Amino acid sequence: MTIIALTGGIGSGKSEVSRQFAKLGVPIVDTDEIAHELTATGSPVLAQINQLFNADFLAKDGSLDRAKLRAHVFNSPSERQKLEALLHPLIRANALKKLAENEHQFHPSYQILVIPLLFESNQYAGLVHKTLLVDCAEDLQIQRAMARSQLDEAQVKAIMAAQVSRATRLKLADEVIENNGSLAELIENVAKMHKKLTKMAVQTCIINQLL
Ligand code: ADP
Repeated sequence: MTIIALTGGIGSGKSEVSRQFAKLGVPIVDTDEIAHELTATGSPVLAQINQLFNADFLAKDGSLDRAKLRAHVFNSPSERQKLEALLHPLIRANALKKLAENEHQFHPSYQILVIPLLFESNQYAGLVHKTLLVDCAEDLQIQRAMARSQLDEAQVKAIMAAQVSRATRLKLADEVIENNGSLAELIENVAKMHKKLTKMAVQTCIINQLL
């Protein structure tokens, strides 16, 4: 089955777009959701994180103190790398398992793998067939991210500065869904892209059978 990587900057509309694709029957595997599942309360990964940094990142109720962990790694590339070295292989293995399960359970022509930092890391090259970007103007991105995540403007801008630029994303992506308008317009754009991807995936499938 064709695998489409869905990406975009913070607040660009990835979650909204994946919800709309899911409504159209497209199976979705989300690497952010997997990261949350892996670090859910009671998960053995939490102890590994504490061990890795020789510190306590658990809140009183035993859940991961995500804000504390984020603050710890945000300005320290070496600490960030240590965390990524622990989590990324686990996330990838889990994603591969879910993608394989979809092959058995569903029969659409393609499925979507949501990878927010697709262009920042090279981990999924060779696995995905096409990249799909959700793009919107940066001022909208800031407004939407602030409204959704209770972050202030400076915090959103700092996160954006740590991600690749909008221009780089637009240069690297195979396909783009534009999200500068209303939700209704976004739904329409997703429906159009669904038609295009379905056609493309069916053609790929036919070519594979012929070769
Ligand atoms: P991402 O997953 O890329 O960080 P989200 O999909 O969570 O972004 O979108 C950020 C916020 O903006 C969410 O609250 C979402 O509901 C809202 N949003 C996204 N697209 C639109 C749109 N076209 N019109 C109105 N609100 C939108």
